[in-house]
Amino acid sequence: MDQRALESVCRDCGRPLSFHAGETAPARCADCFEGFLRIRDAEFLSSYAELGVASRRILAETSLRALVMESPPHRKVLAMHIMEQYVQAASDLVGLYGALQARAHTPVMRAFLAFHLDRTSALAFFREIRETPGPELLDRLNIPQQADLAGSLPSLSKKDIKDLDRAVHQMLIDLRKTVDMGETAALALAQMAGERRTGAALTNQSQWLDSVGLRADQVAAIAIDERRRTVNVTAITVDEARLQTMVGAIDAMTRASQNMIYAVLSVYQEEDRAKELATRSHTRKRATTGR
Ligand SMILES: [Zn+2]
Repeated sequence: MDQRALESVCRDCGRPLSFHAGETAPARCADCFEGFLRIRDAEFLSSYAELGVASRRILAETSLRALVMESPPHRKVLAMHIMEQYVQAASDLVGLYGALQARAHTPVMRAFLAFHLDRTSALAFFREIRETPGPELLDRLNIPQQADLAGSLPSLSKKDIKDLDRAVHQMLIDLRKTVDMGETAALALAQMAGERRTGAALTNQSQWLDSVGLRADQVAAIAIDERRRTVNVTAITVDEARLQTMVGAIDAMTRASQNMIYAVLSVYQEEDRAKELATRSHTRKRATTGR
C-alpha cells in the first residue's frame, strides 16, 4: 500500500492538509469543520423540528391504523414495526437531550447524529429523568427557569414568553410520561437498542430457540448477543390497547423533543439579539469617539 502523504488545502481557511494515498482528501481542517457545524446548530435544530422529529410518530400511527384491518401474521409485523419506532423515537430523544446539554462544547449536529442508544445510555436516561426535579432538568439543558423567562429572555414579546412557558411546562410533563412507561419499557428498550435487523429476525415461535414458547398473539425479535453468548428474544403482544399506549409514548417523546428544541431556539435567538446589540453599541461608541 502506498503510504506517501499527499497534500490538499482546507476549503475554508486555505491551510495545507496532508492525507494518505488511497484516502479521500478532507474538505476542510478539523477546526474549520467544528466551526462549520457550530454555526449551523440553530438551522439544524429548526429543520429537524420541522419534519424529522415527527417521522417515528407518523410511521407508528400509520401502522396502528393499518393493523386493525390486517390478517394475524401481518398484524404481528406491524406491531413489531411500532415497537421499532418506539425504540427509535427514544433513541432520538435521548440523543437530543444529551446533544443539547453538551451544546456549549460540542456542535449539536455532531453529538446528535453520532449518538447511538445502548443499554447503558437508555437506563441512565430513564434514571436521570425520574430522579431529577424539573428546575434542575432545565438548568442542565441551559433553559431559563419558568419563573424567570421574561427576565432571562428580554427580547421576547409577552406572547412569545407565554408560548414558551407553555412549551417548557409541556416538555417536563412529556419527559415524565416517557419514563413513567416504567422499568419494563426501559429494559425492552435497552435490549432492542442497537438491534436493527428486526425485520429479518422476526419470529412467530421461540420454542426452537430457548424452549420458552410465545403465545399465539405474540411476536418476537431475535438478536445475537456475542458478548453474553446468547440469543436475545424480545417478545411483544399484539394487543391494540397496549400498542395504543406505545404510540402514545412515541407521541409524548416527539412532543418533548419538539418543545425542547423550541426552548433552545428561543435561547439562541436571545443570544443573537444580545450579540447584535453589543456590536451596534460598540460601533456607536467608535463613531462618537471618532476612532
Ligand atoms: Zn481550515
